Amino acid sequence: MRWGLIGASNIAATQMIDAIRSSGGEIASVLSGDSRRGQDFAAQHGIAASTTELDSLLDGVDAVYISTTNEKHFPQAMAAISAGKHVLCEKPLAMNVADAVTMVAAARQAGLVFGTNHHLRNAGSHLAIRDAIRAGRIGRVQSVRVFHAVQLPAHLQGWRIDNPAAGGGVIPDIVVHDADTVRFHLGENPAEVVAMTADAGLGAGVEDNVMSVWSMPSGAQVMAHESFTHGFAGTGIEIHGTEGSIFARNVMTGRPVGEVMLVTEAGAEAIPFEDHNLYHRSVRLFTGAAQGQGRPAADGEDGIRSLAVALAVAEAARTGRRTPVDYGG
Ligand code: NDP
Repeated sequence: MRWGLIGASNIAATQMIDAIRSSGGEIASVLSGDSRRGQDFAAQHGIAASTTELDSLLDGVDAVYISTTNEKHFPQAMAAISAGKHVLCEKPLAMNVADAVTMVAAARQAGLVFGTNHHLRNAGSHLAIRDAIRAGRIGRVQSVRVFHAVQLPAHLQGWRIDNPAAGGGVIPDIVVHDADTVRFHLGENPAEVVAMTADAGLGAGVEDNVMSVWSMPSGAQVMAHESFTHGFAGTGIEIHGTEGSIFARNVMTGRPVGEVMLVTEAGAEAIPFEDHNLYHRSVRLFTGAAQGQGRPAADGEDGIRSLAVALAVAEAARTGRRTPVDYGG
């Protein structure tokens, strides 16, 4: 499959170029807003062409991977869909739910595959956790605790910490991933949320810390903690059921690492999991779907829902009110 990269980004450079090539894809061109940056990026990654014109990028490719800053995802995805290209888009899909719904509906109507690059549900750890829950090993889920408080590395700060118009802030950056992961494990969508943000001095005009609580239709409760300023907290997820608990450490990451423990009346046991590359699996499943086999790991609907939860968390923090999640109908 021939791909165009929309965005000369860090995530494309560090993960997705390799993932696309490992799935047999050829990267025909990269789009950058800056011709010099685009040329340098193309040369550095062995990409034949670069361009500053979206139309020119779309010419002659089958699919695009969009990893520009968040406010650009919607117009770029719409242009790609109009040109008949399959779209693998970075999270958050858009700046508001209505735009995300519009782009996903446009792809569906055009018969194109739309994927959201939620990497965590591709991890062996999370696949094993979901399998254990589905197999009934912890009984009925009562609660989830998500720990995703990290230190944002200096090279990733930029727009994330000072540009609300580009979709900066810890809520659009990390809450979307946690929302997708919880939905993946529980198979249901958060209904209402409460939240508070905090300012630890890294964000300028955007939040750098947030804690929230989500109610699930089943009655389960979720508590989530996301931060850009925690250097030593480690990440994890705990899922507590009537028959047991799952404790997963160091699993809210793009690397295939961490540990998963199951605790029941019988005692504690480690749950084994595969250590494949998360991004390779995401691109492999998307490519298969574009070629008529299977589905992307996370599709457009998943991207709409994770965005809706993040926006509800932002609204709840802003208003101080218990906020229903608006999934856009
Ligand atoms: P970057 O900051 O690396 O890139 C975003 C844009 O910034 C690029 O499109 C590029 O514009 C511009 N840019 C990049 N580097 C420079 C530079 N040195 N000087 C000037 N401009 C630069 O973003 P990320 O890779 O961190 O994130 C991109 C998207 O991917 C976001 O939507 C983010 O949420 C998502 N993401 C997803 C991850 C996942 O695991 N699913 C992980 C990380 C990010 P241009 O293209 O015009 O050159």
